[in-house]
Amino acid sequence: MLQTLTDLQRQLYRIDGKSYPAYKDIRGRYDFDDVTLFIDHVQGDPFAAPSRLRVRLPMATAGFPPETYRNRSRLIALRDFLARCFSDACRTLSDRSRGSGKSGLLAMDRPGQEILERSAIVVTAEFVEARFVAGLPARGRRVLGRQAADMLGEDVPKLVEAALRYANLDESQLTAHLNAAEDADALRTQLSALGLVAFVADGSRLPRRSGVDDRPLGGDHVVPFRSPDSLKVEVSLPHIGRVSGMGIPRGVTLIVGGGYHGKSTLLSALELGVYNHLPGDGRELVVTDPTAVKIRAEDGRRVEGVDIRPFINNLPNHSSAAAFRTENASGSTSQAANIIEALEVSAQLLLLDEDTCATNLMIRDARMQALVEKPGEPITPFIDRVRQLADERAVSSILVLGGSGDYFDVADTIIRMDSYIPYDVTAAAKAIAAQQPTGRQVEAGGSWLASTSRIPLATSLDPRKGRREVNIKGRALRAVLFGTEEIDMTAVAQLVDEGQVRAIGQALNVARERFMDGQRDVAGVIEAVIAEIDRHGLDALDRRPTGDYVAFRAYELAAALNRLRSLEVRQS
Ligand code: ADP
Ligand code: MG
Repeated sequence: MLQTLTDLQRQLYRIDGKSYPAYKDIRGRYDFDDVTLFIDHVQGDPFAAPSRLRVRLPMATAGFPPETYRNRSRLIALRDFLARCFSDACRTLSDRSRGSGKSGLLAMDRPGQEILERSAIVVTAEFVEARFVAGLPARGRRVLGRQAADMLGEDVPKLVEAALRYANLDESQLTAHLNAAEDADALRTQLSALGLVAFVADGSRLPRRSGVDDRPLGGDHVVPFRSPDSLKVEVSLPHIGRVSGMGIPRGVTLIVGGGYHGKSTLLSALELGVYNHLPGDGRELVVTDPTAVKIRAEDGRRVEGVDIRPFINNLPNHSSAAAFRTENASGSTSQAANIIEALEVSAQLLLLDEDTCATNLMIRDARMQALVEKPGEPITPFIDRVRQLADERAVSSILVLGGSGDYFDVADTIIRMDSYIPYDVTAAAKAIAAQQPTGRQVEAGGSWLASTSRIPLATSLDPRKGRREVNIKGRALRAVLFGTEEIDMTAVAQLVDEGQVRAIGQALNVARERFMDGQRDVAGVIEAVIAEIDRHGLDALDRRPTGDYVAFRAYELAAALNRLRSLEVRQS
């Protein structure tokens, strides 16, 4: 028999004052007007993780015109926009005075500056669905039935009205959101044909409010981006039309300049240029090759069986560089492993900032070469590999480097940041390089040596923690909780949403269950998981529908797997 919202309210009145588990009976499906409410999971007590709900309404009455979701860019942006509206509405209606613990909570994660696919909102040609959480009200551990009836019977319909009906939304804001995403995707798609790895539109505003606040820095002192003429490229985009900006060509690019002149700010914007940004963010038209990976030193990390021979050889203690394994990597070995692991999953652009690099992996100058001769130094510095990567493997690099002019010899493009404005100083730097030879020996003989691939062993991943229930959680952006293990993600720069971290934890489990067959190597496993999500959406990650997940890239999934301390691999 069809249950209505009125039936639900009656039932809630009936269990008023009973002990909390009486709520368990409200699990199910309720209809009101054109809306369906699903109560999928009921929390065990008022302090437990809140209950999981969904509301769905038919597209016919939700009223979104087909052009709001006619392609993938717009569909993702529409879902993202609705998540913002729904989350705002939750904040307005959430009434935490309703009792103990999480009583009265109505919530959906609020997206940040990036426009990302999120499982919290599903849009199809048939329906629109929002997935959110609710704290069912209690005093102590007794059901507050009347409050629950108000919350589910009155506030939930208000959420639907505020956030899921086209007619009630701000149309110009929605249009701007969809168009921004579509333009950024179009721009990113054009990069390759233009021979570019990144583009920064003139007028972009790159600096952020603070190290912990990703919103744009406001005020008159922000210097808008302005491309040097020699690097200026004009593109044509579907909505905004013709746009000019700085194109960073394939190859090796240096960003030089004095301290505090905006080098790291530019590189950070490029790191996040793999994602689309909100209108008004300032980085809407800063886009980067989607395979770009930020590389940094990460001493203390674990490394499992990585072939780091392009950078490290003849380690002391009989350690093998061909299958390098450590519980506690040094600055240089961690950075070498980070590079090889990024290449393993086919990154085509590496982003490095001297602020977070191991100096000895980046450079060895002539004097140091003279003092510590080659057999005593296991490291082949990046300066002697970066050209091989570009010329032989088509892997470009963008390096922020204020400290070593030795790189002038190996760079294709040299950009100087001066009071936040970029200048093309390639010719000047090359002239200096010709006048003042470094005197250093090139340390990398021959060509780039491809690393041996690794086959991950499913038995080394255990999300179970001695319980039947799988234990996976994201803890802000810093850690994936996987079984008993907390995977440290602090050094993984291109994560922007806690939902990505949760999804990655779950994806590791999908990888373990379905794709780690002892045959597929790391790249193959990661690719299989991503292909599964491409086919079935983020719901491929879970048996039950949840609003918890946000889209992530292959590189961040690989980063989590590689940082799992229990991981074991076999080299193939
Ligand atoms: P660098 O890496 O060259 O030392 P940063 O990128 O860290 O410099 O920038 C130094 C400071 O300048 C930061 O506080 C940053 O927010 C600010 N900044 C960066 N770009 C701009 C800009 N275009 N306009 C105004 N301030 C900026
Ligand atoms: Mg810096």
